[in-house]
Amino acid sequence: MHEWALAESIIMAVVDLAKRENAKEILEVELLVGELQTLNIEVLEFALNELKRGTMAENAKIKFSKQFPRFKCIACGNVWEIRNLENILSRDEIESIHFIPELSHVFIKCPRCGSNDFQVTEGRGIILKGVVLKK
Ligand SMILES: [Zn+2]
Repeated sequence: MHEWALAESIIMAVVDLAKRENAKEILEVELLVGELQTLNIEVLEFALNELKRGTMAENAKIKFSKQFPRFKCIACGNVWEIRNLENILSRDEIESIHFIPELSHVFIKCPRCGSNDFQVTEGRGIILKGVVLKK
């Protein structure tokens, strides 16, 4: 259900923006999706396509691009992205991390000092990356 609320606020935000810019319609909406987010993207996409009907975004193409998660080690301050870990972790472990973010602390260690005390600084949410308007 969270996906529908989010879709609603995304549509509201882009329609607001289009109105402020005096646009005729919204051609494209690009969303940056964190790889560690726990939303169901298919549900979100469905919700967006349902909710855009009858709005200025009716014909807008919804595009998703992925954001690699970023981590910051609390022990040494090192910052790294998960794509750097693909050589360290097995394929199965990476899959588990994608599906169950809570497991990331079990598998991921700081590549510099080996600590598993870290923060996820990016890659958790959804960001409105860009909107293409027709004026
Ligand atoms: Zn470290």
